[in-house]
Amino acid sequence: MDPVVLVALGALGALGAAALVLAVGLQRRGVSRVASVGERIAPDAAQALARAASAEERAAAAVRDAGVLVDLVGIGVVRVAEDFTVVTVNETAARLLARRAAGLPGRSVMEAFTDHRLEEIVQTALRTGAAAGELTIRTTDAPTVLVRARRTPAGDAWLVLEDVSELRRLQRIRTEFIDNIAHELRTPLTTVSLLAETLALEADQLPPRTAERIAKIEVETGHLVQMVNELLDLSKIESGSTALVLHDVDLARLANATAERLSLFAERHGVRLLVEAEGAVPRVRGDEERLGQALLNLLHNAVKFSPVGAEVVVRVAASEHEAVVAVVDHGPGIPRDALSRVFERFYKGDRARTRGVGGTGLGLSIARHVVEAHGGRIWVESEEGIGSTFAFALPLTGPDLAATPGA
Ligand code: ADP
Repeated sequence: MDPVVLVALGALGALGAAALVLAVGLQRRGVSRVASVGERIAPDAAQALARAASAEERAAAAVRDAGVLVDLVGIGVVRVAEDFTVVTVNETAARLLARRAAGLPGRSVMEAFTDHRLEEIVQTALRTGAAAGELTIRTTDAPTVLVRARRTPAGDAWLVLEDVSELRRLQRIRTEFIDNIAHELRTPLTTVSLLAETLALEADQLPPRTAERIAKIEVETGHLVQMVNELLDLSKIESGSTALVLHDVDLARLANATAERLSLFAERHGVRLLVEAEGAVPRVRGDEERLGQALLNLLHNAVKFSPVGAEVVVRVAASEHEAVVAVVDHGPGIPRDALSRVFERFYKGDRARTRGVGGTGLGLSIARHVVEAHGGRIWVESEEGIGSTFAFALPLTGPDLAATPGA
């Protein structure tokens, strides 16, 4: 999020909290702004009352100012009570949702905004604690609004709304551009790769240096073909041009099948693959092929970065709301400053550490998009010299299909 927005939201939160503390303090001290006419007030009590009243007014004004600031930076804020009644809506939120702010408080979310998607986001946030999704507003220019919702300890929910139309437009242009280039590159590259493969078959009839060079060409073109295919995959997932094919997926079975697919690769690296399922893991609603691809990418990395003789474990477990798949390795680990970057497209760890293991820098980016397209989350925990755990969690209620395309 824009740092200005973060500052504004932080200010709003801090000022809200200050106002609350002040109000509670005033109540505790028995100070009320209502004094009956004719009541005699001792001079020092009257002064204290006046001071408290003006401090209260200052706090209220500060909260109002913070509200103006949030409006100014173009962030919509909505508060919804536990019973789905809209409590507050700032001007920006009303504008983004193509409504008039006045008249919205007191109505139910559905009455106020007539948007099923928004209602779903609020429902999920009130039930699980947090939710996010995107809405396309039904107006002439059909803006895209990103909604993030959080449940408060008091049980109601805050919604933060942001217009992301321009960002999504630029992401679409980038995706189309990469998609076009990848398509153009695929045919000639496949031909070069096949020719290199054919030449490599005749290597024993060639001088050793030539055979060696042909082997190099074969390996490098293989990498290029893989990169182009992964780019095409990524742009397909990002653009949503291939919809998810949803089934009830048994993640423990998927973990076993994926480990099986990689068994030969693991054997060649001298790595032992284990699958552990903790108890009966409920099925999730998802695209089995895509989820398999995400897990394959995590597992492939875990094996690729493991030393000979090491173990890689795939753990499948479930909590109340989510199923979690974790891939644990005892490889070199990831430096702290790289942890936030590994899911970016084309990110590759520093050359000295990854020398010889190859890769396109796209595998984790693909995994992230697949998981997010299922309304899930993906993360990594790692310590240098100890190993890494890459994990993803999927909601047990089914995918949040309006996931956000990202970098
Ligand atoms: P690559 O094709 O380079 O493996 P990925 O997107 O899959 O691309 O991974 C990006 C980078 O993240 C890798 O180059 C590596 O630096 C780091 N990485 C991923 N998985 C692991 C792992 N299990 N252990 C250590 N580093 C990892």
